[in-house]
Amino acid sequence: METIGDRRKTSQHSKILVLFGTRPEAIKLAPIISELKKIPNFQTIVVSSSQHTDLLKPFLEIFEIKTDFDLEVMTANQTPNQVLARTIESLDNILETEKPDLILVQGDTTTTLAGALAGFNRQIVVGHIEAGLRSGDINSPFPEEMNRRMVSRVATLHFAATVENRQNLLKEYIPENQIFVTGNTIIDSLRQIRRKYMPSQSIQNVINQTNSFKRILLTTHRRESFGTAMRENLEVLRKFVEDRKDTCLIFPVHLNPNVQNLTKEILADCERVFLLKPLDYVDFLYVMENAWLIVSDSGGVQEEAPSMGKPVLVLRENTERPEAIMCGIAKLVGGNPRVLAQLLSDNYLAQTWINSVKQVQNPFGDGKSAKRIANILKAISSSGNT
Ligand code: UDP
Repeated sequence: METIGDRRKTSQHSKILVLFGTRPEAIKLAPIISELKKIPNFQTIVVSSSQHTDLLKPFLEIFEIKTDFDLEVMTANQTPNQVLARTIESLDNILETEKPDLILVQGDTTTTLAGALAGFNRQIVVGHIEAGLRSGDINSPFPEEMNRRMVSRVATLHFAATVENRQNLLKEYIPENQIFVTGNTIIDSLRQIRRKYMPSQSIQNVINQTNSFKRILLTTHRRESFGTAMRENLEVLRKFVEDRKDTCLIFPVHLNPNVQNLTKEILADCERVFLLKPLDYVDFLYVMENAWLIVSDSGGVQEEAPSMGKPVLVLRENTERPEAIMCGIAKLVGGNPRVLAQLLSDNYLAQTWINSVKQVQNPFGDGKSAKRIANILKAISSSGNT
């Protein structure tokens, strides 16, 4: 079996192509791009597939990411297969001309899988950031769980956020010397953005307007939640807020038409329900900071919540981030809307859990993950030079 050592001899890792296409990938890769750019012998090529376009743009601006290539793969109602095919094809042209030594991909999106496969087929070393997350169910999250498993098969360098993630990789026979536990770079981004920027006036107005309410922050957009599950969850939340006049719901609505249409149908014109456009990172973190409770099917939100000391009800059957449950910040709702109703009502009556998570230590990272990853790449590169 090939080892990193074998690869080191053939590659200096001096030209690094960083690929992303969605909002969470940009958030998590931004601090790595910035660290890599500080290393004199490294040339960093930044490529966006633009799997997301409107959602992604404000994040590129806030993190000051300049893309060298934009694959522009986004079309209306695209399927994962179309994104995969178009990304591989366009990226392949760039690999042909740029000949990078290493491709860095992040997480579990279709762009991530495309980058890993495109790199592998050209015998370029693939580094996987946020490696080793496993829900145990290939259909949930869909298609992300399978994407991340397939990326693990073709990657050579696996940057795991936690020791649990490392364990998952070891169970799948990934060689120990190819796994690096670094923490998750989302914490680097969160800290940096909170230090650097003020929230917009419009989001401050929403927070001022809702000062006397317990704010529930909702995000939901996962493919496996579409349809009945999402409908019933939105109905439960509407009823909860309707019945308790000291609560309100703040919902930045994802641009996916499946989410938009249901939201309009169930939540439009409800009292104390604030339907917002997707927020930029500064404003989203500000709402999080001011939330009473978060209800979400997002992965990144589970990672951020401990740093904000905010409890999360996870709108999913399982989580590939069991650390969030173990540290006490998150509870799984499962597929049953009655459980959501019960959890909302129980925590409204007794604040024990909500108060208990205010000082939780974040199990996902300490804000120094990007530097760790850059240093590992530097060390690998210089050992290849010798
Ligand atoms: N987020 C944001 N604005 C929003 C909703 C979410 O900035 O209106 C951020 C959130 O802080 C988290 C990330 O987007 O870091 C989560 O993205 P998403 O839910 O799309 O993906 P996932 O984390 O589930 O992969």
